[in-house]
Amino acid sequence: MDRDPYVHPLLGVLPRERRGALGFGLVSLNEDACVCEAGEELDRVFFILGGSARLVHRDASSGVRMVMDTASAGDAVGLELGDGPGISRFDVLADAGFGAVVLPMDDVRGLLNECPEFTRAVLALVEKKRSMFLDRLLAAKELDVSRVVFDPALVERFPPQYLLNKRVLPLAFQAGLATIAAASQDLGGIEADMQRYLTAQRVMAYRISPKQFDRVYMEQVQKKGGPGRMDDQVAWYRHVKAKEYTLAFEVTSETKPDTDSKSDLDGAVIVGMFNKIVGEALDLGASDIHLEPNPGGLDVRYRLDGELLLRPERVQSAYAPAVVSRGKVLAGMDISERRRPQDGRMTVTYGRRVVDMRVSCVPTRFGEKMVLRILDPTTMLIELDQLVASRKVRDSVKGMLEQPCGVVLVAGPTGSGKTTTVYSLLMAKKNEYVNIMTIEDPIEYVLRGITQVQRNPHVGLDCPHAIRAFPRKDPDVIIVGETRDPETAKAALEAGLTGHLVISTVHANNVFATAYRLKEMGTEPFIIANSLIGVLSQRLLRRVCPNCAQTVQYHRRLIDPMELPGIPEPLGDFYLFSKGKGCIHCNHRGYRGRVAAYEVLRITDELKPLIASDVAFAELQRHAVRLGCYVSMREYAGILLNSATTTPEEVSRILFVENR
Ligand SMILES: [Zn+2]
Repeated sequence: MDRDPYVHPLLGVLPRERRGALGFGLVSLNEDACVCEAGEELDRVFFILGGSARLVHRDASSGVRMVMDTASAGDAVGLELGDGPGISRFDVLADAGFGAVVLPMDDVRGLLNECPEFTRAVLALVEKKRSMFLDRLLAAKELDVSRVVFDPALVERFPPQYLLNKRVLPLAFQAGLATIAAASQDLGGIEADMQRYLTAQRVMAYRISPKQFDRVYMEQVQKKGGPGRMDDQVAWYRHVKAKEYTLAFEVTSETKPDTDSKSDLDGAVIVGMFNKIVGEALDLGASDIHLEPNPGGLDVRYRLDGELLLRPERVQSAYAPAVVSRGKVLAGMDISERRRPQDGRMTVTYGRRVVDMRVSCVPTRFGEKMVLRILDPTTMLIELDQLVASRKVRDSVKGMLEQPCGVVLVAGPTGSGKTTTVYSLLMAKKNEYVNIMTIEDPIEYVLRGITQVQRNPHVGLDCPHAIRAFPRKDPDVIIVGETRDPETAKAALEAGLTGHLVISTVHANNVFATAYRLKEMGTEPFIIANSLIGVLSQRLLRRVCPNCAQTVQYHRRLIDPMELPGIPEPLGDFYLFSKGKGCIHCNHRGYRGRVAAYEVLRITDELKPLIASDVAFAELQRHAVRLGCYVSMREYAGILLNSATTTPEEVSRILFVENR
């Protein structure tokens, strides 16, 4: 490396008489050494003489790291990168051969005040970096969006006029990072806008030509001037909008619908409205229906593949209470009771489909809110071989189920599909020689040949009591719906030690955190070590619609930071993965149904002493990797990508920093 600081273009402009008074230092850093951290206030400026440094954005919520830009010889870290001088927006990491001359920030401030040559050079560099910033992010040249698949749901979150005025198009939104294409140089206020429309915390912009912008805007936002704006917003709803539904409900109560002063005609209207709401949900493949009273009427939301979508048409205020009452009648609830939460069930027949629904009702400020959970056996009861895509994970899980006793836990946050996995494990164990008992709250499915017990604390039937009472019935397998308190944890683990195979769920972020969660609940570490035979952790990803899937290019800069093992090499700078374009079968969303991604840890004899002792999280993980009894979620996600089951966007959403 050249040790003369004045070969740096910014310093080369300094007048000779000014040079002598400066306190220069030289640094050279190893590869991956940290130059500065995001948000750090720098007390010096690095004028890069040789090598380069990466500007890395780390998403706080997902832990995904993305290389945003590179600073190389002639650039300076601490000047042009910050929100203000001296504050870096990114983690800056040295590449091999990084060498820089450093100057205290106070000296730099002095130069900016006193040396017009220096100030001009700095401003020119800042200007150059700013205009290059957009270009550099994805490629050195303009992004070609002709092959980009736009997500209509994402586009719909912006008023078309805003996109037109700003000349920007949203490309992706994942893990807090909004990716946009911009035809304008002026992106002032873009971050605040993206936060407003998408709740984005960071924005990454690619440049596109004004011509491309116009074309894409016409196609994606205006739809060639065809249907109006309202229709664009509700692409997912368009095909059920005008449909009429005939449904048959199995009425469990003799109570008449709310007839306060309603005529028969109104009664028929209300029956029709309720049928339409439920029928649409079944057609759309929704998992839940929310009926939410508001001053302006009854809002209806459908949960599609985990996402709540507002039905564009709300029920008028005048009919709102009667529509909810209709639901209460069909679910066997007391319609005169409006101040207490109630639970019920209903069965609906729609064509050949017979679907069970679990209904709950809670009073809110503007009236009663109702949630109908659609229990669809085809998505709920899945064979283990179909549920688990990875052979390695499948074999590991089957190994656990072959154990005569011990505890298998399924971890994950609420709504991650843990119950489906537990039912799947249960079905894998089920045969006429095995006695299976469950304690659940609520019982999701009634299964033949299995003794299912509903938890009922009001009569003293709580999980720990049930688990302790079960052995008298001689069960081989005990299913505990959820291990959520210390007593249940203790009872379940003890049952595992005394000759029963226990399967349960636990609210924990990953497999390693599960052992710590049990310790937090006050369970003795040696009991955990000896009773636990395996832990699965899971997340749900949206499945690519097989009907409209197409191959899409993803730049290395988006994929490489996820460090996914087992995915094929990129072609040049691009990886090829599958993504849905949107069609009638997927409600124009490109995704249809969901798939679980697993992480699995089998507790071997070698791991037991580590769990019994107070070994650190990372240590446990290192041993598990070495022993080959652990499959990471990254590895599993790679399998799902390779099989075109899901998209990189979905994968990036679930990768958590604590798994690393
Ligand atoms: Zn489709």
